[in-house]
Amino acid sequence: MKLAESSRRKFELFFRKQLKNKQFQLPAIYFYTGRFSQLITTILNIQGITIGRNVFVKPKFVTLLENKNYKIHVELAAHEIAHVLQFEREGFFRFLFKYLKSFAVNLKQKGNLKSVSRQEAYWEIPFEIQARDIAAKFVKWNKDTQSKNLLNSNE
Ligand SMILES: [Zn+2]
Repeated sequence: MKLAESSRRKFELFFRKQLKNKQFQLPAIYFYTGRFSQLITTILNIQGITIGRNVFVKPKFVTLLENKNYKIHVELAAHEIAHVLQFEREGFFRFLFKYLKSFAVNLKQKGNLKSVSRQEAYWEIPFEIQARDIAAKFVKWNKDTQSKNLLNSNE
């Protein structure tokens, strides 16, 4: 599924400010929450994974609403969209290569392959640090603009 137009516009606006680029356009991003998403996120023990413009989200982070639309966990969506833009910026294969290389380098520094070492090696990948940072900023910005909208509508 694609983002609802209102959500797409919101992310685009946020990234225009982040990137200081008024021309920035969010690419068409597809979200998947089916069996494959469940499988891959469970195997890798993660909440979501982005491959190019395709985002595979663990189904428990997606809610089916009464109007049959879906609601994706906001911070997770922002995090994965940050990865989509990293793919765009670096190029598909270069991004994958750099990402996996930095995971391997981090893991080597840990000196063992224990689960906690793998988790830390993953957390310390610069692309992950950046995606977490952007997602946190988005959550804050989203809250701030929503409260501003509330104030405006009271005027
Ligand atoms: Zn990530």
